[in-house]
Amino acid sequence: MMRIASFFVCVLTVAMIGCTAQGEQSKTSRNQEDHPVDDIMSKMSIEEKIGQMTQLTLDMICVGEPYNLEEPHRIDEAKLSLVFDSLHVGSILNCGGHSYDRQKWLDFHTAIKNKTDETELQIPVLYGIDAIHGVTYTDSSVMFPQQIAQACMWNPELVKRGAEITAYEMRASGIRWDFSPVLDIARDPRWPRFWETYGEDPYYASVLGVNTVEGYQGDSIGHDHGAACLKHFLGYSQTLSGKDRTPAWLSERQIREYFLPSFEAAIDAGAMSIMINSGEINGIPVHTDPNILIDLLRDELGFEGLVVSDWEDIKYLVSRHKVAADYKEAIEMSINAGVDMSMVPVDYDFPVLLKELVDEGRVSEARINEACRRVLMMKWDLGLFDAAVPTLSDYPRFKSEEHVIAAQEAAEESIVLVKNGGVLPLSREKRYVLAGPNSADLNALNGGWTRTWQGDDPKFNTPGCRNLLEEFEFQGVKFKNAGEYPVNLNQYKSGYDAIILALGEKPYTETPGDIEHLDLDFKQQELLRSARETGLPVIVVLIEGRPRTFDQPEHMDACLIAMLPGDYGAAAITNILFGDVNPSGKLAFTYPRYASAHTCYDHKYTDLIDPNFGTNAVNPLFEFGHGMSYTTFNYADLQLNQTAFSTTDTLRLHIDVSNTGELTGKEVVHVYVSDLVATITPSVKRLRAFDKVQIEAGKTESLTFEIPIKDLSFVGRDLNWVVEPGEFVITIGDQSQKFEVK
Ligand code: BGC
Repeated sequence: MMRIASFFVCVLTVAMIGCTAQGEQSKTSRNQEDHPVDDIMSKMSIEEKIGQMTQLTLDMICVGEPYNLEEPHRIDEAKLSLVFDSLHVGSILNCGGHSYDRQKWLDFHTAIKNKTDETELQIPVLYGIDAIHGVTYTDSSVMFPQQIAQACMWNPELVKRGAEITAYEMRASGIRWDFSPVLDIARDPRWPRFWETYGEDPYYASVLGVNTVEGYQGDSIGHDHGAACLKHFLGYSQTLSGKDRTPAWLSERQIREYFLPSFEAAIDAGAMSIMINSGEINGIPVHTDPNILIDLLRDELGFEGLVVSDWEDIKYLVSRHKVAADYKEAIEMSINAGVDMSMVPVDYDFPVLLKELVDEGRVSEARINEACRRVLMMKWDLGLFDAAVPTLSDYPRFKSEEHVIAAQEAAEESIVLVKNGGVLPLSREKRYVLAGPNSADLNALNGGWTRTWQGDDPKFNTPGCRNLLEEFEFQGVKFKNAGEYPVNLNQYKSGYDAIILALGEKPYTETPGDIEHLDLDFKQQELLRSARETGLPVIVVLIEGRPRTFDQPEHMDACLIAMLPGDYGAAAITNILFGDVNPSGKLAFTYPRYASAHTCYDHKYTDLIDPNFGTNAVNPLFEFGHGMSYTTFNYADLQLNQTAFSTTDTLRLHIDVSNTGELTGKEVVHVYVSDLVATITPSVKRLRAFDKVQIEAGKTESLTFEIPIKDLSFVGRDLNWVVEPGEFVITIGDQSQKFEVK
C-alpha cells in the first residue's frame, strides 16, 4: 500500500510540473529525471529490474510444453507464479500457435493482470504481438493486404488508415505493442520475407513507414492506438544467399544509402521501439554490435525508445553464430551491445544468468537501470500503469463494416494490371475456365502471419471470407472449376471463352520460405503452357509473396499481379477482372524476367552493359512502377520553377495529367531524378516524389510537386550525404527536363 500511495503522490507532482500524462508519449517526459518511473525504479531490486528486460512467449505461462500446448490453451497457475512472482518478467508475446477469439485474449490479459496486481510494485505487463496486416492472432479481425501489396497501392493515406484500424483492433484484443512495420528494403526477390516489406525503394519505404507509425501510434496512444516496433534493424533483407538469417556482407555506403533511411525516417516520426536483425553483417551478429546498436542507433539517430531482440537471438549467438561459448557469455555480449529486452522466449534462464553477470561485474548496474527504465518508460507512455483490461463492448468498431470496406478498398488498389492484350475487362456474359493451385485457397491470398505464424492452416480462416472460386460463385460468374492442375484443358476448347489461371505461391514466412530457385515450379509453368495450347485467351492472376520468374510469359494474354491482397483479395481480383473496379496499382518492386538476372530500378549505368557491349542487359519482365489501367493517361507541360538551383533551394514542378480514355481512373505519378555525373557512380534514376490522383474521363489534373534540392543527395566518398553541383534530369512519364545545381 505504501508503494502505491507514494506512486500516486509522484503522479500528482509530475502532473503539476507539466509532465505528459500516461499514454501521451513525448521526448520531454522521457528525458525528465524525476519522472514517475524513476520513483518506481528506486523501489525495485536488481532482480525486478532484470525481470523487466525479459520477454517470454505465452507458451511459458500455459499448460503444456512450449510449441506443444494442451488444447484448449489455458493459463498454468504454477508457471504464472514462477514467471511473475519469482522472475518478475516484464513482457509476454505472441499466441500459443494460433489465433484466439477476443474474449479468450481478454481472459489471458485478466489472468496476467490479476497476478501482477498481487505483486508489490504492481508493474503491468507489456504484451507484444505481430499484427502485421491486421491483428494476425485475433479471430475474425480485419486482414488487410500484406505490406508489399499495400506498397503497390501508392496510397500513403490508405496505408495509414490500415494501420489505424489494426491498432484499434489490437487494442480491442487488449494489446498495445505491435511488432510492425517491417522497414527492411527488399532488393533481392529470393528473400522469404520480401512480401513483408514496402518494396525496393528506400525513399518510398520511408514514406510508408512514417505513415504506418503515425497510423499505429496516433497523436497520442489514448484508447485506440499502440506502439510500433520497427524491424529488423539493420540490413536483414540483404543476405548473400537470399535466404533468411544467413550472412550479409554490406559496406557502410550500401547501409546508409539503401537500408538506413527507412528506419531513420520512422524514428524521427516517433516510433517507440525497434527490433534487431537476427543475422550478421560482415561477420558480426547485429545483436552483439555496439557500433550499430549504440553508436548509430542511439548516438547518431537519437533513438530513445526500447530495443528488443528478435526471437531467441541471444541464444542463437551460441548455437548458430558461434561467437559466444555459452548462453551467459551471449547475454553479456548482447546486453552490453545495447539490447534492452531479450525476446527469450522459451526458457527461464535469461534473468537468472543476467543477475549472475551483474554480480560478477560483467554487466554494470547502470546498464540494467538504463534498459529497465526504457521498458518502464514504454509502459508509461502506453498508459499501461492505470489500465484496466478492456471489455468487448469498449471496442464496438472491431470488424465493423467501416473496417472491412477499408480492407476491401486497399485490396482493390493494391492489385496491378501488368499486361492486357485487349482481353480485360471480361464480360459477365461469357463463360470461363478457372484453374490453378491458388484458385481455391484463401490462405494463399493472405500469406504468412495470418491466424498462425505460417498462415497455412485453413481451420483458423476468417468465416465469411472467400477464395477466388467461392467469389466467382458468389458473384454469379459463368465458369467451370477445372481444379488445381487439370490434366486436360483441351476439353474446354469449345464452350468456353477464356482460361483464368490463379498461380503463385502458398503461404510461408521466415526460414520455411527459403527457396533454391526463383522460378515458379515446373507444374505451374506446364499448366500455363497447356492453357496456351488450347488457343483460348489466357489470363494469369499471380498470388505470391515475391516475384517468381517463369518461362514464356508471352503465353499470357493478360496478367494481374495480386501479391498477397488479404481476406478481401478474391472480391478485389474478381471486380477488376470484370471491370467493376478500374485497376490502379503499380509495382513497388522490379519483376525479374530471369531467375538469375534481377536488377533493381535504381541500378548503376554499368549494369546495362550486355554481352555484345551494348546497353540492353537490364531487361526486367515488369519494371518498378509499372501498372496499367482500363483507361489511358497522357502527361504534358512539365514545367520547373527554375532551371538552376542552389543546394538550399526547393524545386517546384508542374505537370498536366489527362485521362484520355473513357473511364474514370486513378493514376500514380512517379517523379524520377537522374544525377548525370557524380563522384560516386550515380543511379540511372531515383524516385524522388509521387502522387496518386483520380481523374474523370476526358479531364485533366494539374499536379505540382516540391522537391528540396537537398533530397537529391547521395552518400558521398566521405560517407556523408551530399548534393554535388552539376546537371540533373527530371522525368515524369514521357516528359523530361534538365536542370542544374550550382
Ligand atoms: C520474427 C519477427 C517477429 C518475432 C516475434 C521472429 O521470428 O523474425 O519478425 O516479430 O519472431 O514473433
